[in-house]
Amino acid sequence: MLLHFSPTKPLFFPPNPRRNPPLSPPKSLRIRAIDAAQIYDYETHLKSEHIKSTSLKIAVLGFGNFGQFLSKTLIRHGHDLITHSRSDYSSAASSIGARFFHNPHDLCEQHPDVVLLCTSILSTESVLRSFPFQRLRRSTLFVDVLSVKEFPKTLFLKYLPREFDILCTHPMFGPESGKHSWSGLPFVYDKVRIGEEESRGERCERFLKVFESEGCRMVEMSCEEHDKHAAGSQFVTHTMGRVLEKFGVESSPINTKGYETLLDLVENTSSDSFELYYGLFMYNQNALEQLERLDMAFESIKKELFGRLHQVYRKQMFGSGGDGKRSEQKLLNNGLGVPMKEESSSSS
Ligand code: NAP
Repeated sequence: MLLHFSPTKPLFFPPNPRRNPPLSPPKSLRIRAIDAAQIYDYETHLKSEHIKSTSLKIAVLGFGNFGQFLSKTLIRHGHDLITHSRSDYSSAASSIGARFFHNPHDLCEQHPDVVLLCTSILSTESVLRSFPFQRLRRSTLFVDVLSVKEFPKTLFLKYLPREFDILCTHPMFGPESGKHSWSGLPFVYDKVRIGEEESRGERCERFLKVFESEGCRMVEMSCEEHDKHAAGSQFVTHTMGRVLEKFGVESSPINTKGYETLLDLVENTSSDSFELYYGLFMYNQNALEQLERLDMAFESIKKELFGRLHQVYRKQMFGSGGDGKRSEQKLLNNGLGVPMKEESSSSS
């Protein structure tokens, strides 16, 4: 038997006749015996019953970088996670309390409430084409987290049985940007097709609740609208991150705040696969236009800079009354001027 002192719960001692006055129990003494009969913890019981009744069986398809990242939080919210992926992630799954199925048929035999598609954008169609939907319950809710939205919505409507519910979502954060908290981070969703039955609506809400209670900024928006906004923001962000990574930005002893932001941007975007980035470009019809706009903006900035440089050279070469026309002819293709002194000495 273990004796612990506690300021809150006094211990009852039987009267001891050998002591006078009888020993009153020290106020700070309390028994904690591992073999003592435990009081029935009604609250804990109620809590676990509540978790059981609200918990969903979620099948994660694609257990790569993002699939694993999301699964940890889904499990923390009391949901039962089963998963399947092209590669073997059985130990990664068991390490977070999920079950891994090598065969998608076996996964479907578990009759999940929700199938959460976390595969790459590029592989979506081939994954859906070969998926054994017939083994799932007819009312299954299909959810995706692809970073483009119109594309999976079209594929879902094309390949999924009509009885299935469809929720298209985009958690607009990743393992880097959401590693400490999801609070305030945007979560976009579109209830593309949710059946009339009350239970179907509730199931969808229970799934969304995970993100809501993590503090995400919940944004209900059509898939089409999402893609328009995402091309101008997310695709441009990823492009700039990749350009800067190729450029080779490195930390220095005199980093400014702005430069730190650039370094963070590179860190955030470089951990995502190139396949993901390519998917953002290929499967968002607004991305090409944004890439061209970026290109034009870069050219225009260069022109503005070189334009000023020309004026400086002109002034140096001819003074304020210089021959503008002649100086234009002496500019190289890359916009740099050729010093007139050298030119005149070499020609003489
Ligand atoms: P990803 O490179 O876009 O996708 C990797 C996942 O796709 C892995 O589970 C991989 O399975 C699977 N996959 C790739 N090719 C496949 C194929 N031919 N057949 C079957 N499965 C294939 O990287 P990710 O970061 O994990 O992203 C997953 C999804 O989440 C993407 O749709 C992405 O747009 C979305 N998302 C990502 C982020 C993020 O920050 N990373 C944020 C929001 C949304 P194996 O590993 O088993 O090969």
